Parts: sequence; structure tokens; C-alpha cells
Amino acid sequence: IEKPSLRGRFAPSPSGPLHFGSLVAAVGSYLVARYYGAEWQVRIEDIDPPREVEGATDTILRQLEAFGLHWDGPIIYQSENIPRFKDILEWLKAEGLLYACDCTRKKVNKLSDDGRYPNICQHKKLSFEGEVAWKLRHGDGDYSFFDQIQGTCAFDESLYREDFTVKRKDGLMAYQLAVVVDDIHSGIDHVVRGIDLLDSTPRQLRLYEVLGKPAPLWFHLPLAINSDGNKLSKQNHAPSIEAKNASVLLHQAIAFLGQKPPVSLRDEPPEIIIDWAIEHFKLETIPQQQQILYPES
Ligand code: GLU
Repeated sequence: IEKPSLRGRFAPSPSGPLHFGSLVAAVGSYLVARYYGAEWQVRIEDIDPPREVEGATDTILRQLEAFGLHWDGPIIYQSENIPRFKDILEWLKAEGLLYACDCTRKKVNKLSDDGRYPNICQHKKLSFEGEVAWKLRHGDGDYSFFDQIQGTCAFDESLYREDFTVKRKDGLMAYQLAVVVDDIHSGIDHVVRGIDLLDSTPRQLRLYEVLGKPAPLWFHLPLAINSDGNKLSKQNHAPSIEAKNASVLLHQAIAFLGQKPPVSLRDEPPEIIIDWAIEHFKLETIPQQQQILYPES
């Protein structure tokens, strides 16, 4: 694929309301999809119940509406696709691509100096039953990739050769597996998301490889960090974005993405701001690096 044309997506986890950092991801993926004339899907990644916050899904959807970000087609709830993830896991297992691992985090940290899993259970033939993680055997390829914003992205060989978890020890589906299976199933041909997920991409490329499907185009957006240098996240209680400030925040998110919205646009309703941003969208001016976000007032 040369250009996105089919469908993009925004895939929030319902672990809290959207904050400025997630607004940037939502707006970035929306602008890329709309600029290229593709559809924009919303997928709620609700497969980690311990991290889920009650009511967060509704809040997120209402926030998207209030900010003029209108999705195409039905909302996808990842939890409804668990049977599909399980089928794929069984298939990978039958292909001999998986093995069970009973290591604890503590043990892995003791055996490895870079925190990477040293593939120690690969020949143990442990049972897949019970409290074990399922690991995908690494490939021999080069999982570096070209990113439409970041350029060529290459990582340490140790990342490419680390067998990673596709089913967690607690029985839950791993993010890497779910995201790739869903993106393939939904016909997602371009993925726009925060640069914090950049080093997940080689793993996801390994999954595309074993599943025999073409990988999407990648667009990794700069992250908003606070003045302490931490990324804005639900974990560090970044403030929820309020609908009453939609225009100002949208204007700020678009400017954060390196676009140059006129100041007067701040007084317009969200839809007008978004339309301006689609019409004037420039991929080349999106910055690569994280940027400190100073509070508005
Ligand atoms: N659900 C993930 C998150 O909230 C995003 C997944 C993705 O865009 O690949 O960080």
C-alpha cells in the first residue's frame, strides 16, 4: 500500500476519559483518514477488565461526539471478538508457533539484564493448561519498518528475537494479538497512534507475518508530555477533556500536530475547526518528537 485509502481507526482502552494526549491520537487518526478519503472506525479495547473504569466507554464516545469526531460504521467492542482471538491462538498453537511459559516477572528480571524475556521456556514443552503465558516464537526477519511520520524505525536485535506473550498468564488476551487480529478483520490499512507504541510495531509485524497478511501503513504521532517529562496518561491523572472547551482544545491539538490553524478558528464550533484541519492537512509538518504541554491557564 502506498497511501491510506480504506479505513483507519481510533482504539481507546476504557480505562478512563479522554485527556489531551488521547485527543491528539483521536484527532491525528481522524485527520489522516479523512484527508486520504478513508473511513474512520472507533474500537473500544475492552479486553482488560481489571483496568476498565465503569462508564469510561460512554464518556469517551460522548467526548468524541462533542469534539466533532464522527465515526463510520458500528463501534467495535474488542471483547466481542474474544472467540476469534481464541481461534487464532489455537491455529498458531497447531502450527507449532506457540509455547507455554510459567516464568514470573521476578525470574525474568533476574535472568535478563535488559528486561527482555530470554525465551527460556522454548524447549520445555510445558502444558498450555493452567496459569501459563502463551509465547509466540520469534521470527528470523528484520522487523524494522518505515513510518510515515518517524521515517525508518529500527530497533535492537534483542527486540526482534524476543518471544512475546500472545495470551497472558491470567488468561486474558494480550494487546499485541488482539490489536493485529482486529485490525486485519476490520480491513484497517493505516494505523495512526502515539509514539509510545512504536516498539510494539515490530511485534505486530511478526504477527502479520505469521498470519500471512499485509501490514498497514504506520503513522506514529508525537506524545504530549507534562513539564516533568512524563507522558499525559490516565495513570498520572491527566485531566479529562471537557466538552465546554472543545473548540480551544481541538485548536490546541491541531496546532500540537504541527498544523497552523488561524487564531480566529478557536471561536468556531468543533466541526468547522475539523473541516479546516482536513482541508489544510500537511503530513510533513507533524513533528516527530514529544512536546511539553503547558496548561492553558
Ligand atoms: N488501546 C491502545 C491504547 O489505548 C491503542 C492501541 C493502538 O492504537 O494500537 O493505548
